Amino acid sequence: MTPRGWAVLTLGGLVLALLVASNVLVPWSRPPAPRADQVAALGELPVDQVAHAREFRSALRPGAYGALVVGLLVALLLGLTPLGARLVELAGRPFGGHWTARAVLGGLAVVLLADLLTLPFAAWRQSVLTRYGLSTHGWSGWAVDLLKSYAVSAVIGAIALLGFYTVTRLAPRWWWAFGAAGAAGLVVLLSFVLPVLVEPVFNRFTPMEQGPLRTELMAMAARDGVPVRDVLVADASRRTKAVNAYVSGLGPTRRVVVYDTLLREATPAEVTSVVAHELGHAKDRDVWTGTLTGALGAALAVVALYLLGSWGPLLRLAGVDSVAEPRAFPLLIALVTVAGLVAAPAQALISRRVEARADAHALALTGDPVTFEAMQRRLAGVNLADPDPPRWEYLWSASHPSTVERMAAARAYAREAGR
Ligand SMILES: [Zn+2]
Repeated sequence: MTPRGWAVLTLGGLVLALLVASNVLVPWSRPPAPRADQVAALGELPVDQVAHAREFRSALRPGAYGALVVGLLVALLLGLTPLGARLVELAGRPFGGHWTARAVLGGLAVVLLADLLTLPFAAWRQSVLTRYGLSTHGWSGWAVDLLKSYAVSAVIGAIALLGFYTVTRLAPRWWWAFGAAGAAGLVVLLSFVLPVLVEPVFNRFTPMEQGPLRTELMAMAARDGVPVRDVLVADASRRTKAVNAYVSGLGPTRRVVVYDTLLREATPAEVTSVVAHELGHAKDRDVWTGTLTGALGAALAVVALYLLGSWGPLLRLAGVDSVAEPRAFPLLIALVTVAGLVAAPAQALISRRVEARADAHALALTGDPVTFEAMQRRLAGVNLADPDPPRWEYLWSASHPSTVERMAAARAYAREAGR
């Protein structure tokens, strides 16, 4: 069999593995929160709070969709015309067009150009966040964060680009197999190291201070059978008023993180409710689920790019001979951008299912639907979330169930527990 035949076979295997993994690992069967409870919950929220949140979300929308459209157009323009290939050549010229310069500098130049062209929309977003009082760190803090994220992306990007184009040179017929394994390995590696290497670039993490709340949280984790070494507090308040908590990392790098804003804004019982939700993620190994599906998706993308990239018309549009050369990087970016847009609703759906399971875990662990609901109300209030967002936006991008869904889930739980 030819390498191409093997690639088709591998692609089929990866699609199958991804389907099986998402079937087994994603809680599809959970019944949705009753709509009647959602409508009742919405009716009980303060009218001016809902109106204010919707005004804020509308103010964000033009910037968000502008960035989406411009990002897509730039990717298509660079990838499906010879412009992108020329940009890569230009970046390599000071180094005599050496392939490593083209691969690393050319690749980074393409990404940087797309970032710079969508920068006005990011600034728009920041101005809206400031106007509505959610952002606290001012333009200088915003710029510093932006430069830090460029630097982090440049380091990870340079390693990935150099690795990828080394493999395409060493194994011109089989690079897709090594590339797929490498991409999957990189996803797993990043899951381990991001919390230790990258998150501290943006925030300072300190162990939650000793006291009744910490004791209560550690006891709850022990009761839940989830070994948690520590609960960390992130100094998010220097950037935002928004409240949040999350779990990240794998194995020895796993941590539950709460924003200091959450500790300031919420009651101890509400913080307990939030941490119970995060323990749900830990207990159900949701970071592993995300890492595994991410790794399979990355491997699948490499094989699909190889197969698509041998299609003559695409190569002619991009003005390149082979998809494996650095000059074809803009074409890869264009294909990945389009695939990302197509996959967004599926990713959001999976995320919402996983989040709903963590909510159910929090309700069962705390047995306190009243506090859970109060917390949801507070989250929506502080974060200016639309409690019942437009349907299309929800399907397209919502990573969590809506506020009214989460409140309705608490009410359904209370009814069942009362029975
Ligand atoms: Zn969650």
